[in-house]
Amino acid sequence: MSETPLDLVIVGGGITGLGVARLAARNGLTVALLERADLAAGASSASSHMLHGGLRYLEHGHYRLVREALHERTAVSRLAPGLTRPTRFVLPSYRGDRLPRWMVRAGLTMYDLLAGRANLAPHASVRAAEARALEPDLAGDGLLGAGLYTDVVMDDARLAIAVARDAAAHGALIHTRTEALAARPGPVGGIEVVARDHHAGRELHLEARAVVNATGAWGDEVRRRLVCSLTPGAPDPAPLMRPSRGVHLVFPALTRGHGLLLTARADDRVIFVIPFAGVSLVGTTEVEVASPPPACGGAATIEEIRYLRAELARALPRPSRAPVLAVTSGIRPLLAAGGAVGEAPREHRVVEDGPILTIAGGKYTSFRLMARDTLAVLATRLGRAGRPFHDPIEPLPTPLGDDQPAERLAEFAADAEFARSVEDVVRRRTRLWLTPDRGRVAAGPVSVALAARLGWDETRRRDELQRFHDALADEDRLLRRAAEEP
Ligand SMILES: Cc1cc2nc3c(=O)[nH]c(=O)nc-3n(C[C@H](O)[C@H](O)[C@H](O)COP(=O)(O)OP(=O)(O)OC[C@H]3O[C@@H](n4cnc5c(N)ncnc54)[C@H](O)[C@@H]3O)c2cc1C
Repeated sequence: MSETPLDLVIVGGGITGLGVARLAARNGLTVALLERADLAAGASSASSHMLHGGLRYLEHGHYRLVREALHERTAVSRLAPGLTRPTRFVLPSYRGDRLPRWMVRAGLTMYDLLAGRANLAPHASVRAAEARALEPDLAGDGLLGAGLYTDVVMDDARLAIAVARDAAAHGALIHTRTEALAARPGPVGGIEVVARDHHAGRELHLEARAVVNATGAWGDEVRRRLVCSLTPGAPDPAPLMRPSRGVHLVFPALTRGHGLLLTARADDRVIFVIPFAGVSLVGTTEVEVASPPPACGGAATIEEIRYLRAELARALPRPSRAPVLAVTSGIRPLLAAGGAVGEAPREHRVVEDGPILTIAGGKYTSFRLMARDTLAVLATRLGRAGRPFHDPIEPLPTPLGDDQPAERLAEFAADAEFARSVEDVVRRRTRLWLTPDRGRVAAGPVSVALAARLGWDETRRRDELQRFHDALADEDRLLRRAAEEP
């Protein structure tokens, strides 16, 4: 610990914490960020990969949220043009759908209007025959027509890593595999965060003027831990969160390049088919989990996989027979609210417990707004009242090209992108996880390069490689069981 406290310790290395770290560091604050696993290991690598306003939130009247997010869609796309891509979506209407066609058209008109100058392309409506000309595999029975609109598909994990690199380039210290355990009054007048560096096997003590808890679905637990250890005897803070799990299946490309927005027959939920990096992501589910989520709370279940497969088979009968390549699962850090979990608000909220701030809720798309609102609450404490935080739209650092050899990608990931394991490289720094063998062959050279960079001996290298293969084998087993007859 130094004699001058840092301005901020941020706990949580998903897009929310990284966004706060970037904005703070870019405005000259001294910052350290602690992430207990890898950057973007939580929801921030398991999203639907969309920068969007969220068409479906219009139904619940969340106009402000949608308008702000549509403007962020443009701003974030300009930050990372190589990691984002405007994509045309087809929204088919079938006889018997919950929403009549006129209502879908009204929603798309409203979406265009709320985007204003940030609109990417005006929506359109087409007849059934035209919809099938665009996507010939769409089920034809009962198809009445389709709406067409444009949103942005992004590479969630790599965008988060780019934000981390931008923060680090402006002085932020990024500690992965480091878990915040407790807080106490610091020796030089700040708040001391006690953390465990699981990699080095030692404790880390960092003193700061304020702490930002940006731990996503674990926000309630970390808040309780920090607040109750800083002020022994303080009552447990009331829960803020109502987390829910969402699963996606990864298929070989299922469409001719369009995204699809489908209505699930089983429960009228929205299901996307998202074209991403040569594959299709199909999701998502919505299963409420406890706060804090139990250890197994993030794992996809057989029922969720079957639900997605069944809905896909109704919409795209032929391509849906393709084998599933992979499954992703993440926990949404939703704000607590009454009603069905699927209708929980996607807004965010900043809660102040003295020098500890918790940022809860929100969406990936809104990460810059969440950072701005968090720092605004801290401005007085950090001696910056009345001085706005600047957030220039300057491109984020870019990752290496996918055409580079696996060793080179791994070296770069270790040197510049905070990677510490084979999975960090394959799953969150590259698109190797989307190749037909899921990065199995590349994992060998990746482990060799990481061993050289991180000082692993041969036993450690083999263990790391084995851990990677074991995780893939578990995923394959789950997919096989889900594919068996129920
Ligand atoms: C299935 C699904 C689909 C989604 N689709 C979209 C979409 O298309 N577009 C969109 O805008 N949003 C989407 N979202 C929402 C978006 O992904 C999340 O709101 C966002 O990623 C949350 O980021 P976060 O940083 O708050 O949480 P996370 O990414 O979960 O990060 C929290 C981090 O805190 C760490 N942590 C926990 N405890 C500690 C501790 N004690 N010490 C240190 N670190 C700790 C965790 O390891 C984790 O990495 C989706 C979410 C899900 C789950």
